[in-house]
Amino acid sequence: MKSIMTVDLEYDWETKELRNLKEVLPKLLSFFEKHGIRATFFVLGSLAEKNPRLIKEIAKKHEIGCHGFDHVDFSKLSENGTAVQVLKSKRVFDSLGVRVTGFRAPYFKTNKHLYDVLKAAGFDYDSSEFGKRVYNKDGILEFQVPSFFPLVKCGLSFYRLLYPFSKSFSVPYMFYLHPHEFMEKIPSSKSTMPFLLKWLGRRNAGRRAWQIFEQFIKENKVKWVSCGDYL
Ligand SMILES: [Zn+2]
Repeated sequence: MKSIMTVDLEYDWETKELRNLKEVLPKLLSFFEKHGIRATFFVLGSLAEKNPRLIKEIAKKHEIGCHGFDHVDFSKLSENGTAVQVLKSKRVFDSLGVRVTGFRAPYFKTNKHLYDVLKAAGFDYDSSEFGKRVYNKDGILEFQVPSFFPLVKCGLSFYRLLYPFSKSFSVPYMFYLHPHEFMEKIPSSKSTMPFLLKWLGRRNAGRRAWQIFEQFIKENKVKWVSCGDYL
């Protein structure tokens, strides 16, 4: 059985900090190596611009996708704003010689212009919609992001939150996580995220998140691949 592993590479918990790149990412990459996992990393263009060598390094083993330039809510963007976010990032990845054909919108929030913008920019697929299938949407392949059950997305954040109950969930065709979820010291965020959500997001983070994730990978005998490999 094959499933897709996806990683959204972004700033630490809605801050402007990038400590997760030093504190977590090397460990995550060796964990993937050890378990034969090839993932798709959806990377912010602004992050790639500041860390070109790191992105090229990840691209040697994994697939790189685009997560927009800044971590902004695409549902609030005009057609022009959408194009700016996509093309600005595309230019960064192109300048690094990293081929990028997939996109995931920040917060999984899209708008009606996105697919046309992606197509015009030469992208092949998107993975921002919720659902449980892969289908062709006007020439762009949509890898829908599945849920364990309604409202509980197949991400490490929900898996940690509902642990150990989540151990009984069946393995989805796609899973997602953020390296910052493994951070030991979580920076205080000035984001407008409701307090309860912030608090819930921190349940079983850090060291506990590693234990839970390791168990999830070991107990489910699945070949984890990137979006590109899955096709
Ligand atoms: Zn994100």
